[in-house]
Amino acid sequence: MKIAMVGTGYVGLVSGVCLSDFGHEVVCVDREPDKVAMLNQGEVPIYEPGLAELMAKNVAAGRLFFTDDLAGAIDGAAAVFIAVGTPTRRGDGHADLRYVMDAAKEIAAALTGYAVVVTKSTVPLGTNRQVKQTIAKANPNAEFDVASNPEFLREGAAIDDFMRPDRVVVGVQHDRAAEVMAEVYRPLYLRDFPILTTDLESAEMIKYAANAFLATKITFINEIAALCERTGADIKHVSQGMGLDGRIGAKFLHAGPGFGGSCFPKDTKALARIGQDHGLPMQITETVIKVNDELRRRMVGKIVDLLDGVVAGKTIAVLGVTFKPNTDDMREAPALTVVPALIGAGAKLRVVDPHGRREGEDLLPGVHWIEDAYKAARNADAVVILTEWNEFRALDLKRIAKHMSFAAMADLRNIYSAQDAKRAGFKRYVSVGRADFS
Ligand code: NAD
Repeated sequence: MKIAMVGTGYVGLVSGVCLSDFGHEVVCVDREPDKVAMLNQGEVPIYEPGLAELMAKNVAAGRLFFTDDLAGAIDGAAAVFIAVGTPTRRGDGHADLRYVMDAAKEIAAALTGYAVVVTKSTVPLGTNRQVKQTIAKANPNAEFDVASNPEFLREGAAIDDFMRPDRVVVGVQHDRAAEVMAEVYRPLYLRDFPILTTDLESAEMIKYAANAFLATKITFINEIAALCERTGADIKHVSQGMGLDGRIGAKFLHAGPGFGGSCFPKDTKALARIGQDHGLPMQITETVIKVNDELRRRMVGKIVDLLDGVVAGKTIAVLGVTFKPNTDDMREAPALTVVPALIGAGAKLRVVDPHGRREGEDLLPGVHWIEDAYKAARNADAVVILTEWNEFRALDLKRIAKHMSFAAMADLRNIYSAQDAKRAGFKRYVSVGRADFS
């Protein structure tokens, strides 16, 4: 089966590579010629563990191709995936569907025989019907169906998530489209991964509801963490005690600096807008957005308090700026709130991140990039842990504290404990939802 994948970002590239690994012939299209050139040289434009190897394997096997020629990619394809971005539209919080609709028009012009046009991008309810209308209008002779196939992969674990999904959701209108989609995902059917077939709107809603639910879970535990700080409870024990309840589950119960990334912030905002548009405000989701925003600002306050309210002239070493470990993605990362706020207050910022620099250099002007946590902490007044990269999980805290000009740490991922920090010679330590010392 030939498949075309329009958009080679985090989702399109991983999906295209994995579908080729299923044995399909996959042509990935992007409208950025530089990206396509890189891919054709065997270079991966993003950091995602395992992706370079799997890509090379399937290119060598002659079933994975990259091009900026959309018409050539679509010719003879049974399924054409749209995996372009749906960022927040400036000003109103809606998902910006410009890229999806542009792709739909380009696909319409290039369709030759019957194909299923599959939206993998996260899109509001009704978008798949809109894609259908757009294609039919642009090319009244086109023979096609649409399908909604939202993606649930997590950056940093994307290949495993795609290859071993909790479920695949496919929204369709007609059996013919369902049959093509069954063929696309046949290797997963054969290995008994749940494939849920629904109507278009339910598939679209599942994605937003799932992301809003997870964002709510994170925000809930962050709010409980704030209350722990006031009352002397320890959020680590609380999370563990809650998570052991099978009805709750342990995942997404880690307190931290608030959710970020390319999905939760924009998808919660989009869901809130969808609710408002239908005269049914999504009150829980709207509150989650507000609480998460406040939480991020509170994190800045924690760091300022750690330095007695004065950060002007102080040197602060920030460990981790990507929105989570194992990705280079900086979209809506907590660092984008915290770092500029500290610089604005007059601090000198040193930043360490194993893969964040390429993206981060433009986004965080005025910081000093350093390769190594120990060098960054040397003569600094505070160390702030913002992303829990493995590299930062087992630091020699004694060595860090010894060479700091004032040994203070804000551990916003709760990697260490007050006891660890005290033993290592830190003078002050704050974390999220647990005992501090100063
Ligand atoms: P991205 O911004 O990383 O990639 C989008 C790519 O599409 C870019 O390379 C861009 O050049 C290309 N593109 C845009 N218009 C095009 C066109 N007309 N023709 C060819 N290429 C075009 O985006 P992403 O993070 O991969 O997200 C894509 C979609 O998947 C979004 O809707 C997102 O919400 C959803 N999603 C993302 C994740 C994630 O973890 N990143 C997870 C699940 C779902």
